[in-house]
Amino acid sequence: MEWMEKELELLSGASLERSLRESGVAQETPGYVLRNERAMLNLSSNNYLGLADHPATIEAMRGALLSEGVGAGASRLVTGNRFPYGQLEQALAEWQRCEAALVIANGYMANSGVIGALVGRGDVVFSDRLNHASIVDGVVLSRAEHARYRHNDMEHLRTLLKKYRNHRRKLIVTDAIFSMDGDQAHLRELVSLKQEYGAMLMVDEAHSGGIYGRHGEGLCHELGLHDQVDIHMGTFSKAFGVYGAYICGSRTLIRWLVNEVRPLIYSTALPPSLVVGISKALELVISDHWRRVKLFAVSQLFRSSLKHSGFIVGDGGSPIVPLIVGNNEAALRFSHALEEKGIAAVAIRPPTVPDGTARIRFSLSAVHSETELLDAANCIRSIGHQMGVL
Ligand SMILES: *Cc1c(COP(=O)(O)O)cnc(C)c1O
Repeated sequence: MEWMEKELELLSGASLERSLRESGVAQETPGYVLRNERAMLNLSSNNYLGLADHPATIEAMRGALLSEGVGAGASRLVTGNRFPYGQLEQALAEWQRCEAALVIANGYMANSGVIGALVGRGDVVFSDRLNHASIVDGVVLSRAEHARYRHNDMEHLRTLLKKYRNHRRKLIVTDAIFSMDGDQAHLRELVSLKQEYGAMLMVDEAHSGGIYGRHGEGLCHELGLHDQVDIHMGTFSKAFGVYGAYICGSRTLIRWLVNEVRPLIYSTALPPSLVVGISKALELVISDHWRRVKLFAVSQLFRSSLKHSGFIVGDGGSPIVPLIVGNNEAALRFSHALEEKGIAAVAIRPPTVPDGTARIRFSLSAVHSETELLDAANCIRSIGHQMGVL
């Protein structure tokens, strides 16, 4: 095992070692996180709508714990498919205006399992280079050809579609909002390319579900394209504030996935109380449009304030605001300096992002106030000056 120490030394020398840090709930101060016993403004959470501690969800889960117990006891295909699942999947299908829905334990398992159910040897997956790691792993596990196109480069995608024209099944897969950059996929172009080349299209709405669309259905709905997308995927772990993932699409698709998705078949069902919690969170996502309005307002304010100071923060109106630092060590120092000022915002380094693009990834929440964010932006500006990033 000596090799391990050596490899860790290398990682640490390159400012690339990661470690687990304890984070606690800051009672009475939503939007903050406890670190080293200090409440810090949390600009590194995916709790976009502030639903992670909603009393209605807590109450629903508490009730379900008492009636349903703590664990499901088996896979959904054995005896773990407890009654809250059926109710949730029906509500999801209605919300997404699809024929059917399937709940899978989490987004990672959904992507890593569903892709292999759609394609295999002799098939090809066209995947944006900046797609989430769970998509990359899904493609690798599927054993299909992996045709990665340059980020949002539709001409490159077209070239690859031509090149692999004679492969059996074709799948185009993309994040709707890219998790580390916050920009949007070119969904209209993707829809027209998929039609032209006879491919299936799968869209991962992990960072757009709950956030875009009149009822939080996601970016595909906001753009009026949801009927053109074959496989809708999203998670309950970000805007919903709970845990889990969904796939929505045709009845045939869901029937197929129940037979083929290995992480669904060979893994224990989610605890029933969690499924009840997701149902309650879905009601809140649909009804509380004001949370989306607030989220976009504060995101806009924060982004333009950083931009105004001269930072490169990327475009797009999403609540993900990346501040590109470049160098790994500088990104870590930036994050530590923020922490000293009471702001929790982690440095994202390779391999999560491409080499030379280490960054502070800010993600905002409807629970943040304008004052908190303007103060934070001022603080970020002075650190930027001190560190020579500005
Ligand atoms: C977070 C994320 C996932 C994984 O979802 P989990 O439910 O956290 O496992 C998948 N895809 C994208 C784009 C994500 O950002």
